[in-house]
Amino acid sequence: MKTVFVVGAGPAGLFAAQKIAQGGHEVIVLNRDIKPGGLAEYGIYPTKDKMKTGLRKQFSKVLSLPNVHYLGHVSVSSQAELSIPELRDFLPSAMVFAVGAQGTKKLGLPGENARGVYAAKDYVYHYNQLPPFASQDFSVGKRVAIVGMGNVMVDIAHWLLVDDPRKMAEEVIVVARRGPFEAKFDLKEFVYIENYLDRDAFRDELKRIQPRLNAVGQDCAKVADDTFPILNKPLQQAEGGKLRFRFLSSPQSIHADASGRIDRLTVTDSHRRRGRSDCWIALQPR
Ligand SMILES: Cc1cc2nc3c(=O)[nH]c(=O)nc-3n(C[C@H](O)[C@H](O)[C@H](O)COP(=O)(O)OP(=O)(O)OC[C@H]3O[C@@H](n4cnc5c(N)ncnc54)[C@H](O)[C@@H]3O)c2cc1C
Repeated sequence: MKTVFVVGAGPAGLFAAQKIAQGGHEVIVLNRDIKPGGLAEYGIYPTKDKMKTGLRKQFSKVLSLPNVHYLGHVSVSSQAELSIPELRDFLPSAMVFAVGAQGTKKLGLPGENARGVYAAKDYVYHYNQLPPFASQDFSVGKRVAIVGMGNVMVDIAHWLLVDDPRKMAEEVIVVARRGPFEAKFDLKEFVYIENYLDRDAFRDELKRIQPRLNAVGQDCAKVADDTFPILNKPLQQAEGGKLRFRFLSSPQSIHADASGRIDRLTVTDSHRRRGRSDCWIALQPR
């Protein structure tokens, strides 16, 4: 029998631990977060109970194996409680590093260090109650821009428009580099926020970009059948904030107010060269 350290208890670390344990070895799992599950615990939308419960059941099955031992709230790094050389001193037979995709991706925009500009992963960690993000300031104003048009955008808009207890956001503007036919979210996810869509604004936006869609052979009339089926349903406008889209636009710079907090985002048409800005989105009229 051998002893193996697994660093990280997301899905990858836990299923690796299971396989190794089933091979008859002793497994010690070291995890930075208190709870196991990684992004499956702290990334999946808080109200998706069925999915979370199913995953938690699978994870607890792994952790209840007699030869799997879990230590939460233990970071492994040269700056943390335990370093890799220190782990080596215990003479494990092997070490598995399954620490996920850590860090956040910066857009490299001027002004992106302004207060009120958040990386999606950090914001998701915040509303999923992961320490220390849970207690940090992730406040928003009445207008919030989300850059990107995938499932994480839907989760964040869902939180802002539906579940945020402070209900600050009156307008959520999705800034998408590509057009409506290239929406990357799953339709079953978009259902959670579709009734917040501001249909008049959406039609205006389609009108604005129509010549450019036509130029690449895309037909605006097909958007409803393709990526936004809500447009084919009777209007049932949800009360509260409005969801708007700004297509074919890339963020160009972030402007802060005198207190250092974001108050404006400049976007530029995606096909134009940087420096040719065409629109400002004011973000913080509180
Ligand atoms: C915002 C967001 C939402 C998502 N929503 C969904 C969804 O709804 N459905 C879906 O199927 N997938 C979703 N995903 C994708 C899914 O969560 C990931 O694909 C999956 O969690 C990756 O598993 P992993 O084990 O590789 O890494 P992670 O889940 O990231 O796990 C890494 C683990 O390593 C630990 N760790 C990190 N650094 C250290 C260290 N130095 N020392 C010790 N431990 C460390 C962390 O605490 C964590 O427990 C989402 C991803 C994101 C970013």
